Amino acid sequence: MSAAASLFETYNRAPIAAARGEGVWLYDSDGEQYLDFGSGIAVNVLGHAHPHLVGAVQQQAGQLWHTSNLYHVPGQERAAERLTQATFADKVFFCNSGAEALECAIKTARRYHFDRGQADRFKILTFEGAFHGRTLATIAAGGQPKYLEGFGPKVEGFDQLAFGDHDALQAAAADPSVAAILVEPVQGEGGLRALPAPCLTGLRALCDEHGILLIYDEVQCGMGRTGKLFAHEHAQDAAPDLMAVAKALGGGFPVGACLATQEAASAMTPGVHGTTYGGNPLAMAACNAVMDVVLKEGFLQHVNDMALRLKQGLASLVDRFPSVFEEIRGKGLLTGIKCRLPNTDVLAALYGEKMLTVPAGDNVLRILPPLNVTDEEIKVALDRLERAALKLSNKDL
Ligand code: PLP
Repeated sequence: MSAAASLFETYNRAPIAAARGEGVWLYDSDGEQYLDFGSGIAVNVLGHAHPHLVGAVQQQAGQLWHTSNLYHVPGQERAAERLTQATFADKVFFCNSGAEALECAIKTARRYHFDRGQADRFKILTFEGAFHGRTLATIAAGGQPKYLEGFGPKVEGFDQLAFGDHDALQAAAADPSVAAILVEPVQGEGGLRALPAPCLTGLRALCDEHGILLIYDEVQCGMGRTGKLFAHEHAQDAAPDLMAVAKALGGGFPVGACLATQEAASAMTPGVHGTTYGGNPLAMAACNAVMDVVLKEGFLQHVNDMALRLKQGLASLVDRFPSVFEEIRGKGLLTGIKCRLPNTDVLAALYGEKMLTVPAGDNVLRILPPLNVTDEEIKVALDRLERAALKLSNKDL
C-alpha cells in the first residue's frame, strides 16, 4: 500500500509529486520539469522559491516563529498598516486561510447589526456559482449542493441568487433581515465569471440604500491577479465594507485576512473573535515579503502587460482550435479558457506536455501563472497549449 493510502481520499491526485520549484518551474525527484501555470490555485504569486520571500522567511525562522495574539506582533501590525494604506480598509484581522477570512467577514457583518440592536438581521445574500470555502458556513454561503450534501442541515441565513438576475436581487435586498451581500468580483471556481464593473457599482448603491454591508471575496481574484491590487478597483465607487483575502497574500505560506472599514469592524471588540495562529511572526514575514514586491511601482503594470500577451495568444488558439476551445474567460492573469471538449481532457493533455493548469466550473480551464511571469515563459506556455490542442483536435477527427 502506498503512503498516499493513509490520507483522507478527498482528492483524486494527479501522478505528479514535485520535489522543488524555481519560478514557474517545478521539478520532481526524477528531474522531470513542469511548467506551473496553476500556481497552487492562484497562491504562488511570485512563483516558487522567490529569493526575497525565501530570505525573509529564513531570517524570521531563525528568530521567532510564534507567540500569540495575546501579545503585540510587530510584523502583523506592519502588514495591517500596509494593507489599510493600500486599500479601502481601516482594520485587518489575520487568519490562516480563505474560508477563515470569510468566516470572519460573515461574523463581523452579523455582529455589526447585532451591536445596533438588530440581532434579527443576519441573512447573507450570495450568488449561484460562488465558492467561498469548505467550512460549514462557507459551504452554506456557496450554496452548491455537491458541497453541502451529507453534512447535516445547511447553516441558516444564506440565500443564493441567480447570477445577473437584477429583479431578484432588488427584491431580496428589501428584506429587512439581510445583513450583507457577499460576492466574488470575479468568480474563481465558478468558471472565471467577472461581474461587470457597473454591477459592482450598482451593488454598492443597493447596499447603501438598504443599510446592508457589502462583502467581497477576493481570496482568489485579489492581490494583483486581475491587474489591480484588488479586483473591485476596476469599478468606480464600489468599495466594500468588508473583504476576505488569502491565497496570494502569503505567497505560499498560509495567510488569510479580513479587511474592514472602521465602522464595519466597530462591533469586533476584545473576546468576540480570535485565532491561535493567525498573523504569527513567521506568517507575517512571508506576507510582508509578498507586499514588498507586489506593492512596488510597476508591478501591476507588468501583470497587465503579461495578461495582454497571454490573452492574445489564447485568442489565437481559440480561433485555430474551435473543436477544443470555446472562449477566453477571466480578467488580468486570472485567465481561463472555456473548453468545448471536457476540461479534464484538456488538463490531462497538458499534463502530457508537462504543463500544470487548474480546472474550474462551467468547463473552464484556469491558466494562472505567477504574476512575475515573463514574456518568454508565456510563449513556452502557449506552445505547450498549442501542442496539446493539436493532439486533441487530431484525435477528434
Ligand atoms: N473564496 C474563494 C473565492 C476561493 O477561491 C477559495 C478557495 O479556492 C476560498 C474562498 C477558500 O479558501 P481556502 O481554501 O484557503 O479556505
